[in-house]
Amino acid sequence: MLANLHTHTRRCRHAANEPDRAWVEAALAAGLRTLGFSDHCPWPRDAPPVPPPGFRSGVRMDPEETGEYVASLLALREEYAGRIDILIGFEAEHLPTRIAAQDDLFARFPVDYLICGQHYIGDGSGEWLGDWSGSPTADEARLAAYADRCIEAMESGRYLYLAHPDVLNFTGPDEVYARHMGRLCDWLAAHDSPVEVNLLGLADGRHYPSERFLRLAAEHGNWATIGIDAHRPDAIREAVAGVEARALALCARCGLAVHEPPLPAAAHGSGFA
Ligand SMILES: [Zn+2]
Ligand SMILES: [Zn+2]
Repeated sequence: MLANLHTHTRRCRHAANEPDRAWVEAALAAGLRTLGFSDHCPWPRDAPPVPPPGFRSGVRMDPEETGEYVASLLALREEYAGRIDILIGFEAEHLPTRIAAQDDLFARFPVDYLICGQHYIGDGSGEWLGDWSGSPTADEARLAAYADRCIEAMESGRYLYLAHPDVLNFTGPDEVYARHMGRLCDWLAAHDSPVEVNLLGLADGRHYPSERFLRLAAEHGNWATIGIDAHRPDAIREAVAGVEARALALCARCGLAVHEPPLPAAAHGSGFA
């Protein structure tokens, strides 16, 4: 692994309370050449759905923290120049009611890339409502909405790749799963966009990466890339020490080729506007 574009920081309030430098040092020790930070995007306060008064998210930074996040990474980029390339990104949900405000916020900063992580898919959804995409569901309409929203997100051209495409935890029949997730796989294959194999999910024994999804992706001609989804600096060390090898074995079993993640065409502040 030469590049990892899926890295969080303490600001999302569920990652390790370590300085950003600790992730960079771990990546250097692991032999990475590129480390992309993609902390959970802040949600602008005035875009619907608006959380209840006094609510403080446990899954994303406050919008006011964006400047400090970017400044910290810019300083590290300069300090580590020539040893490792540091990219500044966010993992963002693509929700129609929020996208304009999200665009406005990101346009104010030198953001290199976004990855799409559809942790929430409904127009009125949010973490205070408990409707995380990973909650088990046998509802075909929810599965269809997830696939539609992911395609819409990727079609918008904002996102470098789709993180944990298999986060929607569908417990219904395989043929229903294939009907909707196959559409998503087809879009990604047609646009040469990878399916991420998420090492956090693998290490934690979560429902993703899903073998059902990866086999479907192989049938649809997709290719895979590895995302560490590091919420601790040690997750980067553990990735190269064994979790990545488990992911590669899983992909081999499913018939999926694995490549390095796509890099932003124009990094260092001009890749996204
Ligand atoms: Zn995620
Ligand atoms: Zn993540």
